[in-house]
Amino acid sequence: MEDNTRKKMKITVLGVRGSIPTEGKDMLEFGGATSCILVEAGDQAIFLDAGSGIISAPDIGEKQISVLITHPHLDHILGLPFFPYIFKDCKISIYSPKRDDTAISEQVEKYLSPPLWPCRISDYPSEVALFDAELPIKIGDVLVEGIPSIHPGGGTVYKLTYEGKSLVYATDYEHDEDRIGELIGFSKNTDLLFYDSQYTDEEYETHRGYGHSTAKWGMRVMKESGAKMLRFVHHDPGHTDEFLRRMEAEIKSEVCSFARRGEVIVL
Ligand SMILES: [Zn+2]
Ligand SMILES: [Zn+2]
Repeated sequence: MEDNTRKKMKITVLGVRGSIPTEGKDMLEFGGATSCILVEAGDQAIFLDAGSGIISAPDIGEKQISVLITHPHLDHILGLPFFPYIFKDCKISIYSPKRDDTAISEQVEKYLSPPLWPCRISDYPSEVALFDAELPIKIGDVLVEGIPSIHPGGGTVYKLTYEGKSLVYATDYEHDEDRIGELIGFSKNTDLLFYDSQYTDEEYETHRGYGHSTAKWGMRVMKESGAKMLRFVHHDPGHTDEFLRRMEAEIKSEVCSFARRGEVIVL
């Protein structure tokens, strides 16, 4: 029986487009904003990635703000300079594991500094702290774990656990027969799996090594891990609403779908 006293984790999809933002009337249903998922748990608001989706962050009240960056490719940090809370008098903690021995501060400042951007992160009104996360860590009552992703330049697959429920965020992940077991084990019995399915099986054949995967591999991870729900993310910028709906129809599963911007899931 469901425990009604248990505190819930609220997940809001703010951006699921991969690689670069898109726009157009045939992209409205899934949205054109790049990677960002908001997880609200207790007094914490944790943003997974800071793609252009983070620009439409909703009102999170007095919650403490954290941003977990999977990797510093532009589509995952693009929204930071326009993150609404960066303009407010508040504290923001940004976490990411070191990449090739490069601190997260250096990774972010490479983008947020002249000549690529007119100002630095320290010039904004908020107080931003950047941490080289050595996982696992606790953010409030949320346990944050990670495994390495399979992606050019590396990346992190995060797992967030709160009040007995968990989600796994496996974006910018390319399947590999020899290493898929690690992700399956990491996702064991998770309540919600986000999985990179940028390509159709056919498209994947000409995009090997790009660091992205397919819905078929996501289904495999879900089945073998016992994950209860699956949302595909990192939609290819060329895939229209109609195309994505067609890909979705081929899956024929009530617990799997392609994530849509604005979708809310409560665990
Ligand atoms: Zn990406
Ligand atoms: Zn990437």
